[in-house]
Amino acid sequence: MEDLSKKLIIWYQQNKRELPWRKSSDPYKIWLSEVILQQTRVNQGLNYYLKFENRFPDIYSLAEGSEDEVYKLWQGLGYYNRAQNLLHAARTIVKEYGGRFPEEKEELLKIKGIGSYTASAVASMAFGKPTPVVDGNVFRVLSRVFGLYTPIDTAKGKKEFSSLAGKLMAGHPPGIFNQALMEFGALWCKPKNPDCTHCIFFKRCYARKKNAVLALPVKKPKPKVTDRYFYYLVTETQNGKILMNKRGSNDIWKNLYDFPLFTLQEKSEPLQTLDQPPFQSILPGLVYALSDISREYIHLLTHQRIHAVFIRIFVENFPEQSPEKGLLLIEKNKIEKYPVPRLLEQYLQDQKLIKHH
Ligand code: SF4
Repeated sequence: MEDLSKKLIIWYQQNKRELPWRKSSDPYKIWLSEVILQQTRVNQGLNYYLKFENRFPDIYSLAEGSEDEVYKLWQGLGYYNRAQNLLHAARTIVKEYGGRFPEEKEELLKIKGIGSYTASAVASMAFGKPTPVVDGNVFRVLSRVFGLYTPIDTAKGKKEFSSLAGKLMAGHPPGIFNQALMEFGALWCKPKNPDCTHCIFFKRCYARKKNAVLALPVKKPKPKVTDRYFYYLVTETQNGKILMNKRGSNDIWKNLYDFPLFTLQEKSEPLQTLDQPPFQSILPGLVYALSDISREYIHLLTHQRIHAVFIRIFVENFPEQSPEKGLLLIEKNKIEKYPVPRLLEQYLQDQKLIKHH
C-alpha cells in the first residue's frame, strides 16, 4: 500500500498538468475549479475557470455578483444548479463566515450548495485535511488495481472506495494524494485502452493480471426495458364529446386521463383490437365510422417502452347513460383541462385537439 501511494505521488509530480488552481492553496480558487470541473472535462472547464477567476477574483466579488451574470458566464457548461450552488455558497461564506472558508469537511458540508465531493476536495487541497476525494477517475483506478467489484453507484461502493482511498492516503499530503489519484485516472488509467504495459502498477494491478480492465469498475445493472403495445380507442360523438378514461392507481400515469385502452405484450393489427375487451363493452350495438388510425407513438419510461396507436372513431348515437366505471364523456373543447400523459399530449396536438404549448 505504502509503496503504491509513493509511486503514485512520484508519477503525479512528473506528469501532472500545470493548471492555474494547482499553483494556489487559496480555498476559493480550489473550490471554484472543483465546482466547474464536476461533470466537465479539464480542457473545457479551464476556459470557464479563467473567465470566472478574471471576473470574480475572490469570494467577495462572487458573492456580490448577480444571478444573471453568473449564469451568463456559466452558459454552455450545463447543470445550472451548480451555478446556483456556487453563488449561494459564496454568499453564505461571506455572510456567515466572514468570507473565510471553514477548514473541516463537516463544517463545509453545512453550507448549502457544497456537497460531499467538493467539501473533501477543499478540506484536503486547501487545508491539508485527510479527507479522501472519490470521483469517477478514482473509482476506476482503485477498482482495477485492487479488483473491487462492488458497484460504484451504491452507498456501499462509495463507502468502500472512500475507506480504501483514506487508507492509501495515510502518511502522505492529503491534497497531493487526492489530486495524484484523480490525475492518474484522467491521464493514464483511462476508461478505454489504458497503457497497462508501461504502467507504474503493472505488477500489482488486479485488472491487468486477470484481463478485467474493461470489466471494471462495475455499476448497478440497468433495469431491463420491456415493450408494451397500447391500442387506444378515441371515440367522438355527434354532439362534440369524446370518451375519456381516468386511470387507476395500479399502473403507470396514476390518476391522469387517457382513452379506453387495450394493452398487449406483442404488436397487433390495430383494427383487430376492436374485438377485444374493454372495447367490446363500449362498442357492441353501436354504429361507428372509422376516422383515423394513427402512426405508432413511442414513449420511453424507465423500465418500459410504450408503443401506442390511436384508433379514432365517430359514433352517431352514443348512449348518454353513465359510461362504465372510470370512463367519462367530456366536451371535446374542454379536453385541455384534463391532465394527460405526455404521450397523449403529443397525439392530441398532432390531431389539433389541443394547442402546442
Ligand atoms: S495496469 Fe492498466 S488497468 Fe491497471 S492501473 Fe495501470 S493502466 Fe490501469
